[in-house]
Amino acid sequence: MNVDKRVLGILEAAQEGVAPNRDECVFLLQFPETSLEAALLRAVADASTRRRFNNSGILFGQIGVDIAACPGKCKFCAFGEGHTTFEPSVMSDEEILHGVDDFTNTGELYALFLMTMHTFDFERLTRIVQKALERIPRHTQLVVNIGDLDAAQVRDLKAAGVSGAYHVCRLREGSDTALDPEQRKATIRIIKEAGLDWYYCCEPIGPEHSAEELADQIFIGVEYGCFQHAAMRRVYVPSTPLAPRGQISELRLAQVTAVVTLATLTCPETKTIAVHEPNLLGLTAGANAICAESGANPRDLEKETLGRRGRDVNACRMLLYEAGFERFLISPTESISLADAYRCVRT
Ligand code: SF4
Repeated sequence: MNVDKRVLGILEAAQEGVAPNRDECVFLLQFPETSLEAALLRAVADASTRRRFNNSGILFGQIGVDIAACPGKCKFCAFGEGHTTFEPSVMSDEEILHGVDDFTNTGELYALFLMTMHTFDFERLTRIVQKALERIPRHTQLVVNIGDLDAAQVRDLKAAGVSGAYHVCRLREGSDTALDPEQRKATIRIIKEAGLDWYYCCEPIGPEHSAEELADQIFIGVEYGCFQHAAMRRVYVPSTPLAPRGQISELRLAQVTAVVTLATLTCPETKTIAVHEPNLLGLTAGANAICAESGANPRDLEKETLGRRGRDVNACRMLLYEAGFERFLISPTESISLADAYRCVRT
């Protein structure tokens, strides 16, 4: 077989549990997604995840609870101030709690994310967290996906019952966004210091990002020790400033997912690898986690993403089944079999 020898060496080492370093990840990311080397990379990452996570997947859900012209001004996001076409809107407490019930009533989610704009009403979010925790299954965790925070706010959220936070220093943060990369990293450190599970991601990946940029961003997650690492592509949203740069294929996203998977091999904190948005190529290239979505979605031009870009829990469960996972975790110690997933379309 005519395969690059250096790639073979990196992948053989990975099969022995040796994670590729930053330069080796750059090398792996430079191959076209249609190459034999990229196919082998995806296969090795897939096999490593099956072994590492006992062939178990994980389901998450996210509710985007508000829409506003966001001061983050992210040039890839449908809500960025200066280019958004949305009118402001905020879900009522009742609407959010109804969404919480819809996501959690079958007890299949490991965690439910509540997502806001970069700026948000902190007191209200804390109140909603407390109300949500009164009605969700005991094992389902609550995670926030919100703007930058100080240490007191993180402590308050933890005291209210929040288990984790999704927080990313994005690709080209500070130039493709109006946010300060150092502030993003400071919030990450605060999340970690508070003992919350920190969810990270290499995102939002576009065709213009070099292998070096991707590797550098991936390694923030490795060096800071993320609970979940992931890969997400930038979705073509016509109203956003970065739309003309286009969108990578799911196959390229799967290649980045595979590199994320191997880069975190020896990261003790990393317990799951996700691919956003949910897709089978990512779930067969090292990812074992996907997220259902409702409400606001930065990658959608509809106010309610469920039924459009957002998938529901049934669809996500079926994707895990189709990807060959045997079970999915609903907590660190409990899981549900996927053996009959094709029969049990729950409502
Ligand atoms: S990605 Fe988040 S922070 Fe950036 S503009 Fe959109 S909602 Fe705001």
